[in-house]
This record gives sequence, structure tokens and C-alpha cells, in this order.
Amino acid sequence: MPYAIVIGAGVVGAATAHALTVAGAQVVVLEGGQVAAGCSAATFAVDITRVKTPPALFDLALASVAEHARLQRADADQAWVHPTATLEWEETQADRQRLRERIRRLHRCGYPAEWLAPQRVRAVEPALAMPPQGSDEEPTEVAFYPEGGWYDPPAFVRALLRRAKRQGASVHVNDSVIGMTVDDGRITEVCTASGQRLTADVVVNCAGPQAAGIAALAGAELSVRQIAGMVAITTPVHTGLQTILAAPDLNARPHLGGRVMLHSWLIDRELEDTPASRRRALAEELLRRAGTLIPMLSQATVEASRVGLRPVPPDGLPIVGFPSEVANLYTVVSHSAIHLAPILGVLAARELTGDRQHRLDPFRPTRFRPGADRPQAVDESTRTMLARIEASNGCETADVR
Ligand SMILES: Cc1cc2nc3c(=O)[nH]c(=O)nc-3n(C[C@H](O)[C@H](O)[C@H](O)COP(=O)(O)OP(=O)(O)OC[C@H]3O[C@@H](n4cnc5c(N)ncnc54)[C@H](O)[C@@H]3O)c2cc1C
Repeated sequence: MPYAIVIGAGVVGAATAHALTVAGAQVVVLEGGQVAAGCSAATFAVDITRVKTPPALFDLALASVAEHARLQRADADQAWVHPTATLEWEETQADRQRLRERIRRLHRCGYPAEWLAPQRVRAVEPALAMPPQGSDEEPTEVAFYPEGGWYDPPAFVRALLRRAKRQGASVHVNDSVIGMTVDDGRITEVCTASGQRLTADVVVNCAGPQAAGIAALAGAELSVRQIAGMVAITTPVHTGLQTILAAPDLNARPHLGGRVMLHSWLIDRELEDTPASRRRALAEELLRRAGTLIPMLSQATVEASRVGLRPVPPDGLPIVGFPSEVANLYTVVSHSAIHLAPILGVLAARELTGDRQHRLDPFRPTRFRPGADRPQAVDESTRTMLARIEASNGCETADVR
């Protein structure tokens, strides 16, 4: 069984390290900061099955829901899976058309999704302020997804790393990987900031938004965009919120201890030009917008706001496998990794212990040609995110398909 160094202790590193130890590998995790303190601590963290395309990625998303559930059943101490239904509606003609197409696609796949009449929306989600019945503002097409839910990523990371440690893994925090020696196309040594010099059969790059920098240390090319996003967490308040709301330009969901988590593409769009000192004001703006949707939020304040850098591969699909340049550097990096980490970890561990996984073939790093133009995003959730973040203020969402 191989000796593996896993770089990064976010959701992807934790899932991969855990699966590797279960498969019998010896594992050392090297984390530059604290565990679950990168993007995995600054994320909306909901199930994204409904927006995952093409079919190979949709299938992985379904498999990851099952894997989250399997891991959760085996861990009574940490609860990270919170099953919750989702309501979604859109405002503009183009976005409504896209939502209809999505529902048709999901029906073809047998994934549960239905349209709710406004009265049913009021019954399913009493926390929501719906415009008066029959008014022009009342959304007439509200999609309801009974499955899915939200995750608590720090609880997931803690649980999986604890289990990995029980199986013999060691986890080193506050010790960044700062260099690698490569000899004849193989990494022969990994150097850390504290002066450790480690050797391993395989080095697994789970550094999320910093994964390109890790690849560069080994002389490999990896393209990963860092796309900033903010979530705000309210103080505990009795909103009675039952569902995840995917509303035009606002996402809201229940959070731990009676809190509500908020996210908006409009706020993400502002982040690049907003100094860190003004981010608090953005979070308060987010809460103000949410108050028009969930009136009880007028009694809450912003308890915390967090900005994360999403690791986004050029075509939006996960990158899993060996690059062509280095024989023993394995990459596991993905957008939507809170949802996808469990299945990516399991499949990566099977490959690294000798069992090639053809399900991963559409996601190989070698699909990108060096120097080629950036490919268009093929995953629906990435296309939507880029269109909403990059659209200029006030414009209808661009259709980038
Ligand atoms: C606003 C927002 C909303 C989101 N919503 C969702 C959602 O609803 N559903 C979903 O599934 N996903 C969502 N995501 C995306 C998801 O959060 C990320 O895909 C996921 O957190 C990435 O996990 P990771 O483990 O790859 O990266 P990280 O959590 O960033 O972990 C990487 C780790 O590597 C470490 N590291 C980096 N460099 C080094 C080094 N040189 N040496 C040692 N360690 C190093 C870092 O310190 C870090 O701890 C969202 C993201 C954002 C920002």
C-alpha cells in the first residue's frame, strides 16, 4: 500500500485522506493553516445536484449524496448532513426559461422536482414574505426540490480527519508546503515551512484555491480560477425558515443554532472592488435584502461574514488524476466540493491503491492543452455563477451557453 502525502485539510483533503486510510494507505496530511479554515469555512454549502451537468458530473453528484449519507450514518458524534428541501424561482424571462429547461432535464433523469402553486409555497415556507396573491410580483413558477439539504463542512472535516487519525494518519497543521524536489519526473521530497523534508510514493494535491501553486512547486501546470464569494451568518432568530431558498439574487438557508446563512451573486460581484474594511457593510446589505424576503430577519444582525475563494477549474468540472509532467503528483480539485468531496475522495483513493476508476476519465487534468484558450464552462452551476458574477450591474443575466 502506498505512503501518501495529502496537501490541504479542507473538505477535499479530509475526504481523500480518510478514504486512503480506509484503503490501507499510510497518510500524512500537511495543512498550511488550521483544518477546515480555507474555502471550506466560507461557503454556502448546499447540495447542488440539480445544477450539475453534464451527465457524468450529475452522476457523481448523486453518488456523493449517497456517500455523505453513508459516512454520516457511521458517525453519531458530528452531524454535518442536514436534509432540507429547496424552493427556487427566477425573475427575468431568460432565467425563467433556464429554470423550465432544468426541471425538464431533471424529470428526464428521474430526479424529484415539481412546480408549486403560490398557496403551496406559502404552506411549505411560512417564513417567506410572498407578494399579495394575484399581484404582478407574485412568482407563479416556483420549483420545489424535496431532496437535498445543507452541510456543515467543519463538522465533516473534523469527523473524517479524526477517523483517519484512528487508522494511523498524521495531520500537521500550520505547516505549509513550500518546496518540492523533482527528479526524473517524480517528486522525491516535499519541504515544509517548519523544515520537515518528507518522501512519499504519491503526493495528493488537495490545496483547493491554492492547487495551481502546489502544482507549480513540482513544475506542473494546473489552471484553477479563484472566484471570491461571501456568506453572511445572522444572529439566532426565530424565522421558522424550513427550506433552502434560491431566489433571484439571494440565497438563504437555515444554519446552526437558529441562525440563517445568506449569499447573493450581486454581493459577490462587488467583492473584487471592495476593500476588506468595507466588507462588513456588504454583509449588512445582504441582510437588508434578505429582510424583504424573510421579514423576521429584521430582528437579526450580522453575526459573522466570511469570504472564500472558490477553486474553479477552467471548464467547471473537477480535476482528478495525474498531470502529464509529474508521475506521482495526483490532483483532486473541484468547484462545489462541499457536495462532491466524499465521492471524489473515495474514487481517488481507489485509484491510488491500484484500481483505475473509469468514472473519473472525463475529469482528467490531461484534458487541458497547454497554452490553449480557456474552455467554456460546461457545468451548468459554473456557467450560471460566472454569468451572474460577471454580468455588469443592472443587466439581465447573460446567456453564456
Ligand atoms: C460563497 C461560496 C459559496 C459556495 N457554495 C457552495 C455550495 O453551496 N455547495 C458546494 O458544494 N460548494 C460551494 N462552494 C464551493 C466550496 O466551498 C469549495 O469547492 C470547497 O470548499 C473547496 O474545498 P477544498 O478542500 O478544495 O479547499 P479548501 O477548503 O480551501 O482547502 C484547501 C486547504 O489547503 C491548504 N493549503 C493551501 N496551500 C497549502 C500549502 N502550500 N501547504 C499546505 N496546505 C495548503 C489551505 O490552507 C486549505 O486549508 C462555495 C464557495 C463559496 C466561496
